[in-house]
Amino acid sequence: MSTPTSNVLIIGGGVAGLTLALEVADHRSVTLVRPAQDDQGASRWAQGGIAAVLSPDDNLEAHINDTLVAGDGLCDLEAVRFTVTHGPAAIQWLIDKGVPFTPETDPAARYPYHLTREGGHNARRIIHADDATGRAVVDTLVDKVAQHPNITQRNDLTVVGLLQDTQGACCGAYGSDANHQWHSLTACHTVLATGGASGLYRHTTTPAPSSGEGMMMAAELGARLMNLEFQQFHPTCLFDPEGPAFLISEAVRGEGGHLLNEAGQRFMLAQDKRAELAPATSLPAPLTLRYSAAP
Ligand SMILES: Cc1cc2nc3c(=O)[nH]c(=O)nc-3n(C[C@H](O)[C@H](O)[C@H](O)COP(=O)(O)OP(=O)(O)OC[C@H]3O[C@@H](n4cnc5c(N)ncnc54)[C@H](O)[C@@H]3O)c2cc1C
Repeated sequence: MSTPTSNVLIIGGGVAGLTLALEVADHRSVTLVRPAQDDQGASRWAQGGIAAVLSPDDNLEAHINDTLVAGDGLCDLEAVRFTVTHGPAAIQWLIDKGVPFTPETDPAARYPYHLTREGGHNARRIIHADDATGRAVVDTLVDKVAQHPNITQRNDLTVVGLLQDTQGACCGAYGSDANHQWHSLTACHTVLATGGASGLYRHTTTPAPSSGEGMMMAAELGARLMNLEFQQFHPTCLFDPEGPAFLISEAVRGEGGHLLNEAGQRFMLAQDKRAELAPATSLPAPLTLRYSAAP
């Protein structure tokens, strides 16, 4: 069974797919494939917040520098500069869409939303919605997508492959519904916004992770994949031998939480002068840790 052609087909309804859908839908017809029970993927689970230069006391060069230091020589300077420079406008876009970021309550503060700190950042620049930022962003954008007349949602499909035209170019995708019926979705432009590949690992802090399905589909069509070694290994999680691990937000260390070893001693001071706020590249091999509240 085939459905009408749309101009843009977006596969994946995390923050990337939802944002792109809203950005292009004023000018093009969009089909967004987003599984109905979409707690899959990372976006809804993001906690701590989003880093951007927002306070008048912060500046873009400082954020660029912090990112390059945390990247430990692996960053592409132009990509860092582009991302950091566009950060403030991206946050304003989310605010304009109605994301309920946590307001600042200190009357002396020079920015209306509360900014927290996270590892690797030498300034308060993490805007957040309590400790469920991803949920607030996704819920807001899902609501906007549902109201947009140019966006057709396909919540019934899991995409399993891309369609090829006679020249070998991508012209859409195909997938199956809950009744194992096949559906083809053709489009002028197809975007894979299918998230990462943490589901390939035995231990992951993404509760219902993507497993690189989108990358695999692109590779099957002949795309060359690159930088596959770049996976985020989050430095802190709660390890429960009887259940899945869950992530402990970086904001806990940002607001003064200490990392303790099994003997109850702080150990990060000996590793890095930034102590608990050092980026993950400074952390030693996996350790069993306890948190203590800041004194
Ligand atoms: C526990 C946790 C905490 C985090 N905290 C933060 C934080 O504080 N700050 C921060 O900046 N980042 C944080 N992150 C990272 C951040 O959440 C991700 O970088 C971001 O959400 C990625 O968005 P995405 O849209 O690219 O992918 P995802 O959110 O993973 O979305 C992928 C989408 O693709 C869909 N999909 C996948 N395969 C298919 C298929 N075959 N067919 C149809 N649909 C498919 C999924 O259903 C999903 O909708 C955190 C991540 C986790 C897991």
